[in-house]
Amino acid sequence: MALNILQFGRTGQVGFELLSRGPLRGHRITALGREAVDFTSPEAVKRAIGSAGNIDVVINGAAYTAVDKAESEPDIAMRVNGDSVGALGQACAARGLPLIHLSTDYVFDGTKGTPYAEDEAIFPLSAYGLSKLRGETLLRERNDRHIILRTSWVYSPFGANFVKTMLRLGAERDELKIVDDQHGAPTTAADIALTCLILAERIAKAEGNGPWGTYHYTASGETTWRRFAEAIFAMAAPWAKIKARVTPILTSQYPTPATRQLNPR
Ligand code: NDP
Repeated sequence: MALNILQFGRTGQVGFELLSRGPLRGHRITALGREAVDFTSPEAVKRAIGSAGNIDVVINGAAYTAVDKAESEPDIAMRVNGDSVGALGQACAARGLPLIHLSTDYVFDGTKGTPYAEDEAIFPLSAYGLSKLRGETLLRERNDRHIILRTSWVYSPFGANFVKTMLRLGAERDELKIVDDQHGAPTTAADIALTCLILAERIAKAEGNGPWGTYHYTASGETTWRRFAEAIFAMAAPWAKIKARVTPILTSQYPTPATRQLNPR
């Protein structure tokens, strides 16, 4: 079944994968970037949905993802991740359009010590987490026909991510001090995009009774940033000139503007 999918976040990690994988599954993807619709303006988001042509499903991969910068620009983060997601949900509801939206483990405080279930208490520790939570909340209020996928530690060949940073720094530096007490599940943007496309297909097949709700979606297993870096270096060894030695440190030894949760899985 070929679907008409409208996608926001064209230039992002997940956005890029959606755009390349959608047509492989037979779908027509209209991908909009910031130049077409700026999420700092909820009105612009509403207009984009109102004026879009024939669409079956909307997938939102646009987000303010600069976690530390959000501490000094909380209003912008809130508009992009909060208000505009609410506007998107409302505009989609007005047209009867289902919406698949991506969210984050940053909505949790990470103190539980074991993996979180979808309905567990949320308590963001950062401006970014708060803004993403606001988006989730407004979306639930305004469009019943939504799927929220909370994911974590996204990486891909495109854009900025931990894998690319480690490959660069590992070749440049002799030593890298890497946090070893934050736990998470690295997840590829390709897997997230594929899952969004499969969900879009299920929604279309379900003819109105879609699998609506909030889901946690990550790769299986868990690691720390230090163990992740060592795995990256081991896999890259045959082709990359990695010279850095890895030294584990605690989060408290690596202060950042945004508070990081220790175990938000
Ligand atoms: P990226 O940072 O790679 O991409 C974000 C996208 O949003 C880019 O296309 C960017 O456009 C766009 N964007 C940012 N600001 C605006 C704006 N004002 N108006 C319009 N577009 C804007 O994100 P990912 O693909 O990594 O993340 C996808 C989703 O997954 C997001 O919802 C994120 O919160 C969530 N997530 C991400 C994680 C991660 O580790 N990256 C972890 C957990 C969840 P431009 O290129 O112009 O900046």
